[in-house]
Amino acid sequence: MIVEISGLTVRYPEILALDNVSFEVGKGDFLGIIGPNGAGKSTLFDVMLGLNTKYEGTVKFFGSEIRKSRKYLGRIGYVPQNPVFERNFPATVRDVVHMGLGKNSDAGRIDGILQQLWIHELAGRRIGELSGGQQQRVFIAKALVHDPEILILDEPVTGVDRQSTDLFYSILRELNLQGITIIWSSHDLDAVNKLANHVACLNRTLFFHGESEEFFSDDKLVKQYSEASMQEHMHQH
Ligand code: ADP
Repeated sequence: MIVEISGLTVRYPEILALDNVSFEVGKGDFLGIIGPNGAGKSTLFDVMLGLNTKYEGTVKFFGSEIRKSRKYLGRIGYVPQNPVFERNFPATVRDVVHMGLGKNSDAGRIDGILQQLWIHELAGRRIGELSGGQQQRVFIAKALVHDPEILILDEPVTGVDRQSTDLFYSILRELNLQGITIIWSSHDLDAVNKLANHVACLNRTLFFHGESEEFFSDDKLVKQYSEASMQEHMHQH
């Protein structure tokens, strides 16, 4: 197992955001994390990315507790939820993908990544002029140049059209087939059903974690989950 989370509990002053959450991710897995607004997905991501170290429980990446060393961060890539650059941000797509790389970066490899993500024709454009879906693919490229073993992605909630979303999904599938482990939070149950081989349903506690086939073939479980999510949703609004 390359990710082992055990008894993870996160408290904010007024609220228990994660309550005794435990799950593991194996090498090559494609995990879909689903949950309504306020379920604790961002809190979980913050912990995994080392941004929130005030948690109870253990969180191990590649066998080591992440509080002890930040080295694991070099082996994971993160794609944020809504990366929006202001329109005139003075950097091209290629600049953004190159950010953080040394002078000796392999231009051929970067071109390959831009092509795989269907953004090679946009390489010279200003990042802020791109659509949400295109910017999202730039962020995936930026993560891939570091050759990550695990890719963590927060699915955009708004601003991405159907076509870009489908392209995004086919790219995720391809990356997973290449051997990259994927941890992906999504609002799209159908897409999780189609893409992920494991699913974690989060709603402060883990409502379900296991093979996605087991979850989606159990109509009662899916219905129970959807109802619980809707109720939670209504509380929020
Ligand atoms: P999600 O990403 O699933 O929408 P979050 O992790 O953002 O869920 O939020 C989980 C709960 O914790 C929510 O009730 C939210 O209001 C609360 N919360 C999130 N971040 C903070 C914070 N920094 N301080 C206090 N409460 C927070």
